[in-house]
Amino acid sequence: MVELRDIVEKNGFIVFAASAFIGEHSYTDKVATNRPDTKDLQKAKEFGVKAEEKISFSQDLLNANKLFIKGNFPYKERKLGVKCAPETNINCTNCGICADNCPMEAISFNNYRDIDAEKCINCCSCIQKCPSSAKSFVHEHIIKG
Ligand code: SF4
Ligand code: SF4
Repeated sequence: MVELRDIVEKNGFIVFAASAFIGEHSYTDKVATNRPDTKDLQKAKEFGVKAEEKISFSQDLLNANKLFIKGNFPYKERKLGVKCAPETNINCTNCGICADNCPMEAISFNNYRDIDAEKCINCCSCIQKCPSSAKSFVHEHIIKG
C-alpha cells in the first residue's frame, strides 16, 4: 500500500485515507474463505464514513502532511526468480473468460493460450474463472490448477 500511495501521488492524486480489506485469496479458496463477510463489509462501510468526514473537515488538503502508511521502503521485491504465466491445456473451449478477467491484459484476445509472462502478476484470476479448468501454473513455486 505504501507503493500504491506513492504511485498515485506521482500521478497527481492526494492520498488522504487508505485501508486494506480482506478477501478470499485468488490462489485458493482455503485462505480467507468466503471473505469479505458481513462484519468485513461493515468495517469497510465505517472506513468510508470516516474518510468522508476527514475530507469534509479538512481545511487544506493540498498542504496536508503525507499520509503515513505502515509498510516497507525500499519496497519488497517479489522473489519468484523467473517470470511465469499460466499454461493452457486441451480443455480450453476458447470462451475468452480468462482474457476478459485478466487485470493486466496479459492474455491475448486473439489466442487465449498466448500469455505475456512479462505482464502476468500471477494473480490466478484466469485459473479461478476458467469454466473448463483449462489453465494452471506449472512452476516450481506456483502449483495451481
Ligand atoms: S477461460 Fe478457460 S476455456 Fe475459456 S478461453 Fe480461457 S482457458 Fe480457454
Ligand atoms: S495469472 Fe492473473 S495476470 Fe496472469 S494471466 Fe492469469 S489473470 Fe492475467
